[in-house]
Amino acid sequence: MKGDLNIYVCAACRGHIVTRDRDEGTTPMFVACRATPLCKGTMQSSMYRVFDQTMAEGFEWYRPLPLERAALSESLQHHVSLGGLLLRKVTTPAPLAAPPAAEDRLNAGGAA
Ligand SMILES: [Zn+2]
Repeated sequence: MKGDLNIYVCAACRGHIVTRDRDEGTTPMFVACRATPLCKGTMQSSMYRVFDQTMAEGFEWYRPLPLERAALSESLQHHVSLGGLLLRKVTTPAPLAAPPAAEDRLNAGGAA
């Protein structure tokens, strides 16, 4: 479901990734390992059983835009046409809270 976290665990290296559904659509039960570089294992879905929903995701499931879809392979375009989402790494996770501005800390001390 859109907004939900999921965890995929690799059967070979036991590594895991946390994913979030950015869009509405279907996600697969199994994906190629993305936890360890060069690992040829298969990761299995935890079926969205994630206790701590405040965890930060490392990957996201998304619906590609029409222009992105056109650049996909035929099999991936077919997958997307059936409602399937695609997986990509999250490069800039949204911060939960903004840190206090530097000026506020400097001004808090008052005159010396
Ligand atoms: Zn692995």
